[in-house]
Amino acid sequence: MAFRIHNTLTRSVEEVQPAEAGHVRMYTCGPTVYNFAHIGNFRAYLFEDLLRRHLKFRGFRVTQVMNLTDVDDKTIRSSREQGLPLKAFTKKYIEAFFADLKTLRVEPAEHYPAATDHVPEMIALIQTLLDKGVAYKSDDGSIYFSIAKFPGYGKLAHLDMSGLRSGARVAQDEYEKESAADFALWKAWDEQDGDVAWDAPWGRGRPGWHIECSAMGMKYLGPSFDLHTGGVDNIFPHHEDEIAQSEAATGHPFVKYWMHCAHLVVDGKKMSKSLGNFFTLRDLVGKGYSGRELRYELLATHYRQSLNFTFESLDAVRSALGRLDEFSDRLRAVAGIVDPGIQKTGTTGPGETPQAGISDPGYNLPAWAQQALEAFTAALDDDLNVSAALAALFDMITAGNRAMNEKTLDAAGAAAVLGLLQRFDAVLGILEPEQQQTDAAAEALLAQRQAARQAKNWPESDRLRDELKQRGWVIQDTPQGPKLKKI
Ligand code: AMP
Ligand code: ZN
Repeated sequence: MAFRIHNTLTRSVEEVQPAEAGHVRMYTCGPTVYNFAHIGNFRAYLFEDLLRRHLKFRGFRVTQVMNLTDVDDKTIRSSREQGLPLKAFTKKYIEAFFADLKTLRVEPAEHYPAATDHVPEMIALIQTLLDKGVAYKSDDGSIYFSIAKFPGYGKLAHLDMSGLRSGARVAQDEYEKESAADFALWKAWDEQDGDVAWDAPWGRGRPGWHIECSAMGMKYLGPSFDLHTGGVDNIFPHHEDEIAQSEAATGHPFVKYWMHCAHLVVDGKKMSKSLGNFFTLRDLVGKGYSGRELRYELLATHYRQSLNFTFESLDAVRSALGRLDEFSDRLRAVAGIVDPGIQKTGTTGPGETPQAGISDPGYNLPAWAQQALEAFTAALDDDLNVSAALAALFDMITAGNRAMNEKTLDAAGAAAVLGLLQRFDAVLGILEPEQQQTDAAAEALLAQRQAARQAKNWPESDRLRDELKQRGWVIQDTPQGPKLKKI
């Protein structure tokens, strides 16, 4: 079996065959850092994380680039509204973005280029397009790409170009399919840009959004690379324009496979900042949901199906994760692993990179676990069918619980199944329970209780234990001494 994915360019499911054997080079359109990302945005980043992790599970090396759009119409407008220099304005949202990725356990990409650090590359690319005659300067000093000069225009979005008005222009970064037109590569400075401007041979101004991704993609991955991803709203105009600029400049096919995730929707409408129907990750963490639960929620629907966000489904996630935790606790007990905490078997903490494709546990898996491994792999190989992969995992939990009830699973078998869970988790990233957030006050009470016990002051020790309980903590005695656990 091979890993097969749906390619938006060909509208068909194809086997992943990178240009360089064993090494996938992929580009992911990153955030426009003018606000906190909402969970719709994170749906896209989690689909890409699943893709990246499954590629690694399948033995590929991955070089991933995710850009930061820190100059465009929206960032400039918002920074001016807040009276801040562009860099100072975007810094806050860049930092928040990385913190959110960590909360959601997204594996880091290899490169995070910021657009403002790559303007010379964009100017060079625009110069090439001018030299080749596919770009031109308008009266106001902006540079436009002439779509009539690029015969392949429309191939990604499957546009019907017959009604095209030759020479019509669009200056905004975002526009509808109906207004397919020459688009801005470079926008001449105007006063709305404030002090955001760079000097180019043809005049002062700033890059358009689309050229940013072409220039940064080709800088880090070469003129042709394997995979490019984003949400479906990126297909037109953003990705269509990226193809046009890049291929017109280099004469090479820009990207072999394009993958796009469907939207996260609320009441049938795309979650978006402009509609105001959005939740940031922070909103939901503030309501008591963990990064782990939100990761599961955003990941568990196939990426090409729209995902309807509801609080009821988050509750279902909580109980699914409870089943998973109970199962691994039980396995650990059978395997004779005393200390809770799966660190023993090699998992990493949230935000860290688990070892993909962890080697076989060196023990024959029980037949039901072997079956689960095969079903899990086949499901993800089938265009990242994550719901089927999760079904394989939960079928395994049912079979494993039965085996433990019947006492047909010995310690070595349980350890092997734990090893398999780790392998699944290198792809899913949901196994590790949320790290305990003990508050400083609770830690202080615990220390006081220890002191009371050492002084054999049992009433005081009991009183402190009860106070901790009221605050939501129980004390667990471990070989490393007493620890707090959230009730
Ligand atoms: P932006 O910051 O608007 O450029 O969006 C960043 C990424 O989030 C892009 O890949 C978008 O396609 C994606 N995106 C935006 N809204 C949604 C949504 N509601 N559901 C899924 N992906 C989205
Ligand atoms: Zn992009």
